[in-house]
Amino acid sequence: MSDEDGVQLEARLEEQEAFDPPEEFVEQANVSEKSIYEEFEENWPECWEQAADLLDWEESYDEVLDASNPPFYEWFTDGKLNASANCLDRHLDERGDEAAIEWVGEPLEEGNRTYTYEDLHREVNEFAAALREMGVGEDDVVTMYMPMIPELPIAMLACARIGAPHSVVFAGFSADALATRMNAADSEYLVTCDGYYRRGDPLDHLNKANDGLAGVEHFVSDAVVVERLRDGDGFGHDLADDQRTYADLVAEQAGETVEPVERDAEDMLFLMYTSGTTGQPKGVKHTTGGYLSWAAWTSQAVLDIEPEDTYFCSADIGWITGHSYIVYGPLALGTTTMMYEGTPDYPERDRLWEIVEEYEANQLYTAPTAIRAFMKWGSEYPDRHDLSSLRLLGTVGEPINPRAWKWYYKHIGDKSCPIVDTWWQTETGGMMVTTLPGIGTMKPGSAGPPLPGVDAQIVDTDGTQVDAGRAGYLTVQKPWPGMLRTLYKNDERYIDEYWREYSDTDSDDMEDWVYFPEDGAKIDDDGYITVLGRVDDVINVSGHRLGTMEIESAIVGVEGVAEAAVVGGDHEVKGEAVYAYVITEEGYEGGDGLRLRVVGGIEDAIGPIARPESVVFTPELPKTRSGKIMRRLLEDIANNDELGDTSTLRNPDVVEDIAASVSDD
Ligand code: ATP
Ligand code: MG
Repeated sequence: MSDEDGVQLEARLEEQEAFDPPEEFVEQANVSEKSIYEEFEENWPECWEQAADLLDWEESYDEVLDASNPPFYEWFTDGKLNASANCLDRHLDERGDEAAIEWVGEPLEEGNRTYTYEDLHREVNEFAAALREMGVGEDDVVTMYMPMIPELPIAMLACARIGAPHSVVFAGFSADALATRMNAADSEYLVTCDGYYRRGDPLDHLNKANDGLAGVEHFVSDAVVVERLRDGDGFGHDLADDQRTYADLVAEQAGETVEPVERDAEDMLFLMYTSGTTGQPKGVKHTTGGYLSWAAWTSQAVLDIEPEDTYFCSADIGWITGHSYIVYGPLALGTTTMMYEGTPDYPERDRLWEIVEEYEANQLYTAPTAIRAFMKWGSEYPDRHDLSSLRLLGTVGEPINPRAWKWYYKHIGDKSCPIVDTWWQTETGGMMVTTLPGIGTMKPGSAGPPLPGVDAQIVDTDGTQVDAGRAGYLTVQKPWPGMLRTLYKNDERYIDEYWREYSDTDSDDMEDWVYFPEDGAKIDDDGYITVLGRVDDVINVSGHRLGTMEIESAIVGVEGVAEAAVVGGDHEVKGEAVYAYVITEEGYEGGDGLRLRVVGGIEDAIGPIARPESVVFTPELPKTRSGKIMRRLLEDIANNDELGDTSTLRNPDVVEDIAASVSDD
C-alpha cells in the first residue's frame, strides 16, 4: 500500500459510520444466522431454553417462565442446579488440565498463577469445606472485600457450592461502604485480605476492613483473611481471635470435597450492591438458574467465547461486569479467563498490550473510560506489541464516543475484530443491547439492536414509542432470565425504582409491566439504539432537552480532546446552560484556539442551542471508583455551590483543583 493509499484509507475510516463484521470472524462466529431475531421473537419465552441448555441441571425445570405475579417473575421453575458444579465439575473430564484462570499479579517480579480446572476445583472444594466448618449454612450471605486476587473467585464459587449467596464489595470502597453493605445484607461472614499492591507499593487493606467491621451492627462470626502481602511488606497486623488466615483454613481441609448443594433455579446466587452514583446502595438480587444461563448465553453469543479461548476482561470482579464476564459466564463455558490485578499504566502504559501478547488473548472486554485513556496516551504503546491473537473487542459501562470507538477498532483490533458495545446494568445481570458480532453491522457510538428475545423500546414520557431519531427513555417491555428478582428485602423499592414509572402496578398481566432502567436513548431507522446516558444527565436549555452524552461525544470528536464532561448549571434566561470540562490529549494544550474548536464541534453536531456557557480545561475529571464521571460535583462547581460528598471518588482532590481553576479565570 502506498502512503497515499494509506492516507486515503485513513480519511475514509474517519468518515465511515458503519462497519461490517470482518469476514474471517463471521465464518467462525458462534451465532451467524440473522434468523435468530425472528426465531426468538416467535418462540418467546421458550427461546430461552437455549440459554438454559448451556447448563447442566440436576433436575430439569417445569416452566420456562412463570409470569403469574409480575414483576416478581420466576424463570426455569423448579429446576435444580449448582453454579459451582456448572463452572467446575462438569469441565473436569475434558478440560481438567486446561487453565481456568490465568492470574497476572502485581508486583511483576513475583510471577503469576495458573489455575487449571482441576486446581480450581480442588481449592474451591477445600474452601467450601472450610466455610461450612465456620458455620456458614445455605442462604447465609457471605461478604467479600478483596481486590483482584484468585481467592476472590474461589470464595465466590465456594459459596455457590454450599448455597450461600455472596456479596462482593469492591476493594476500593471505604470502611463505611463495607459496613453499610454488611448491615443491609445481615451478613455475618467476611472474607478479606491483609493488603495488596498498587503500582508496586503495598497497600493496607485489613485496617480498612477492621474499621468496617467495627461499624457492623450485628454479630459477626469468624472473618477470613487472605495473606496477599509478601513477608516484610505487612503492616504489622495482628489477627484478632475471630480471624483466621485463608491458607490455614484451606490447609486444614486439604483434599476435602464438598458435594455441590442442589439449588432451586430461583434461589439467590448473589447480592450485588450497585455502585451508587445515585442514592442509597441497592441490593440487587440475582438467582442461580436465570442469571447463570444469561451470563453463559451472552458470553457465548456476544463475546463469542469458545472453550479453547483465552478471554480477557479488564474489569474488577467487584463490579457486575467481573461477576458475569470474568467469573460466571466464561467459567460456565469452560474457557480460560484472565484476571489482572494491576493497573494498565504500570510499569508502563503498554501493560495490557503486553499481557494480550504474552497470553495470546482472543477477546478483550473493557470500558470506554479505559479506551479514552489509551487514546490519550497514544498508539505507540499498542504498536509495540503483537495483538494479532485478538478476535473480538468489547466495551461496557458508558456510551462510547465514535472517535474512541474508531481508535479501538483500528489500533487495538487492526480493523479485523468486531466491536461489541454492550449496554446493560447490574440489574440486568448481563448484556441486553448490542450487535451480535457475527451478524450485525457496527455503528460507532450506537450499541446496536436489542439482543434476540429482548424487547427494548424507546418511549416518551407517556410510554409511547418515539420515532426514529428522537430521544426518549429506554425501557424493556418483557422480562428476561438474567433480570434482578428484587432489591434485597425490599420488594416495594424494587417496584418503585424500576417498574412504577411505566407500569400499571395494579395489573397481574405481564403486558402491563415495563422495566425502566433510567437511561435515556434514541433509536435509528435500523432499530439501533444509542444510549445517551442516565436520565438525570439531561440538561434543559430553554426547554430543549439535551443529553450530556451527546454533547460530550461532540466534544471528544474534536482533535486534541481526550475526554470531556458536560453538566447543566443554572442560567437566568435559559433555565439551564451547558458547562463543559475538557481534558486535552497528550501534545495539545487547552487555550482559546481549542476552546473555539470545541464550541464549533458542539454547534456542528447538535446546534447553537447547545453552545456551552463555559469550557474549562482540566487535567482530570472527578470519577467514581468504577470510572464513571461524577457529574453532580461538576454541577456544584458550575453553580458555585458548596461541594457535595466526595468520599466515593477515586480522585477526591481533583474537585477542589477544578473549582480553584474556575474561580481563577
Ligand atoms: P448506580 O445505579 O449505582 O447509580 P451505575 O448505574 O453506574 O450506578 P452499573 O449498573 O454498573 O451502575 O451501570 C449501568 C449503567 O451504565 C447503565 O444504566 C448505563 O447508564 C451505563 N452503561 C452501561 N453500558 C453502557 C453502554 N454500552 N452504553 C451506554 N451506557 C452504558
Ligand atoms: Mg444504575
